[in-house]
Amino acid sequence: PVAVTGLHKRFGALEVLKGVSLRAGRGEVVAVIGGSGSGKSTLLRCINLLETPTSGEIAIDGEVLKLKSDGHGGLTPADGAQVRRVRTRLAMVFQSFNLWQHMTLIGNVVEAPIHVLKVPKDEARARAEALLRRVGLYDKRDSYPAFLSGGQQQRAAIARALAIQPDVMLFDEPTSALDPELVGEVLAVIRDLAAEGRTMILVTHEMKFAREVASRVVFLHGGLVEEEGPPDAVFGAPKSERLKRFIQSIH
Ligand code: ATP
Ligand code: MG
Repeated sequence: PVAVTGLHKRFGALEVLKGVSLRAGRGEVVAVIGGSGSGKSTLLRCINLLETPTSGEIAIDGEVLKLKSDGHGGLTPADGAQVRRVRTRLAMVFQSFNLWQHMTLIGNVVEAPIHVLKVPKDEARARAEALLRRVGLYDKRDSYPAFLSGGQQQRAAIARALAIQPDVMLFDEPTSALDPELVGEVLAVIRDLAAEGRTMILVTHEMKFAREVASRVVFLHGGLVEEEGPPDAVFGAPKSERLKRFIQSIH
């Protein structure tokens, strides 16, 4: 589970997050929606400490991340061991796949288990094969990413994320770089993960999918949570005018 409280993030003069609070309990799928520039990626990047918040609190499985002043009005992680520990509990899937191009698919999937988690090679390989089979890529295990479609690369990136056995999966618009005909195969994998009760925070523009898989939907606007609730309420009976306009603009 993830609990974010009063998160602020500033880039120079630009305050991108202005006090965002968000919870994803065990087994919950939280969909984060909002216009371009509303801070969705920044929020995810703060949760896994790719960015450090300017202020606010982040707790993963009840463990509050220790942050200290960076001397420039911001914060920086205070405990490197904690950061490494937290990073193995969270796995992020990016819009642009971000596979290592010089490694085969199986190489991508075994990398973190072997080098970060110190899983024995044979065991890591066996698990990686099972994960690639699960996302329908067992036959492609020895291929390099450049020879695969975007949908295949993204499914491999999901297998790689699963390989560290994370408690929480973070997805940042996992289908928005894909040709329309490849979106479905990636959503099918994510739907499957939701069905097995994984905790997920999913930034997406796929409103129909969000409505189908999310336990809760959070609408970000101007660096704040403008509205949140169960998908049927957020999509079926939005209260905020901005949310109404946003939903119309997507369809
Ligand atoms: P999109 O839907 O386009 O992906 P988003 O909601 O994910 O948008 P963010 O990427 O979080 O938005 O960006 C929010 C704002 O913060 C934008 O104005 C962006 O230009 C700015 N921003 C993001 N990262 C940085 C950075 N490293 N330095 C400066 N500004 C940044
Ligand atoms: Mg983004």
